[in-house]
Amino acid sequence: MIYDISPAITERLAVWPGDVPPRREVLLDMKRGDSITLSALRATVHLGAHADAPSHYAADGQSIDQRRLDYYIGPCQVMRVKVPRGACITAEMLTSPITASRVLLWTGTFPNPDHFNTDFAALSPVLVDMLHQQAVVLIGIDTPSVDLFDSKDLPAHQMFLRHDMAILEGLVLDGVPEGTYELIALPLKLAGFDASPVRAVLKGGRDSIMKVQ
Ligand SMILES: [Zn+2]
Repeated sequence: MIYDISPAITERLAVWPGDVPPRREVLLDMKRGDSITLSALRATVHLGAHADAPSHYAADGQSIDQRRLDYYIGPCQVMRVKVPRGACITAEMLTSPITASRVLLWTGTFPNPDHFNTDFAALSPVLVDMLHQQAVVLIGIDTPSVDLFDSKDLPAHQMFLRHDMAILEGLVLDGVPEGTYELIALPLKLAGFDASPVRAVLKGGRDSIMKVQ
């Protein structure tokens, strides 16, 4: 069983206000009689499901090509949290004990990848710190940022930096039962870049437990 937890990249996909949405430029097209079809993509690297690099939030931070790949492959827990829109997830909102070193949180506060709503939920820095104490190395979320939309000092991002943890944003976790999976979400080797889109998938889930909310 494989769950695809990435939104489709189309020209409708919402990006952060002011950022560069995806555009496909078709240079050659077999439907027009060309011998091949050939196209180019222009877009922000914070596109759909993506991995942030530390250089996104720290001037001397590692770029995405410099990050260890083991963050992005391995055991992963999916958890649903009840959090109001525009609020930060706190430790008290976690519904089950941590079972893996990667944690993906479903909030349901950014329900349509093609529509950018600014009142999505985020992570409290204290929660990031607490998950680090429990040996978590990666946290993923179904919103465009681990900090709230109007945050300027980015306290959650800064806590990821302090503990050298990895961030996945823009995941689509609808329909994924809570439980433990294998995560595969490799960033592209974009030298010097501050993020990369990922094709995020979850494998397995034999021991996953459906929770009624
Ligand atoms: Zn990002």
